[in-house]
Amino acid sequence: MCARKFFVGGNFKMNGSLAQIKGIVDGLNSADLNQNAEVVISPPALYLAYTKDLLKDGKNKNIEVAAQNVFNKGNGAFTGEISVSQLSDLGINWVILGHSERRQILGESDEFIASKTKAAIDGGLQVIWCCGEPLEIREAGTTTDYVTKQIAALAKVLSPEDWTKVVIAYEPIWAIGTGKVATTQQAQDTHKDLREWLAKNVSEKVANETRILYGGSVTDENSKELATQPDVDGFLVGGASLKPAFIKIVNSA
Ligand code: PEP
Repeated sequence: MCARKFFVGGNFKMNGSLAQIKGIVDGLNSADLNQNAEVVISPPALYLAYTKDLLKDGKNKNIEVAAQNVFNKGNGAFTGEISVSQLSDLGINWVILGHSERRQILGESDEFIASKTKAAIDGGLQVIWCCGEPLEIREAGTTTDYVTKQIAALAKVLSPEDWTKVVIAYEPIWAIGTGKVATTQQAQDTHKDLREWLAKNVSEKVANETRILYGGSVTDENSKELATQPDVDGFLVGGASLKPAFIKIVNSA
């Protein structure tokens, strides 16, 4: 059994301003954070360089910055997009891909997300890759089929080595931003199913070593109990990442 390092990501989504992000980062810079946790915060693209700069004088050297998206092509005529090499140029080592808001609102397919994930990894980035089911799938009892189809599209394009650059975030769509968190058992069961799928379809090693985060209305009130589950290796946090509660969530393991 390998020790998977506890991981907490903060997804600011399309929120924040110079002043608000400074407030959040100042709070993180002076906090007593669990040094055994890997922490990655993800502001909107406009603020990536600013956030990175603010973090450099803080006492928590384990905080990294993630983009919320990247394109699957090299620099060129792709108006509005950001390339992997541009993120690397800024010293950004992480990107969130496959978030349900991009899947649902922007219409990103499993295959497109897989190709962006592959491009990001090939360019030296690490990826927080998200999956998760809508409410009707949860109610129909077909969550495992749904999320394993999502991960199968990713597995098709990744080499075994590529998986060392991936952190999976299981985020049931009905729990995102709704205040309705999955039960500890629901999270554990789906994480276990994803891990078993990896063991069977990729390798035991990848299944044992890949971190699987839970995301969906995580707060400092529910994070401690969720973190006790054997297959919950951390969190991807949306709303609460904009608040001081994020520090408690990082320290909940
Ligand atoms: C997210 O956007 O990844 C998320 C989990 O949001 P929230 O924590 O607000 O539900």
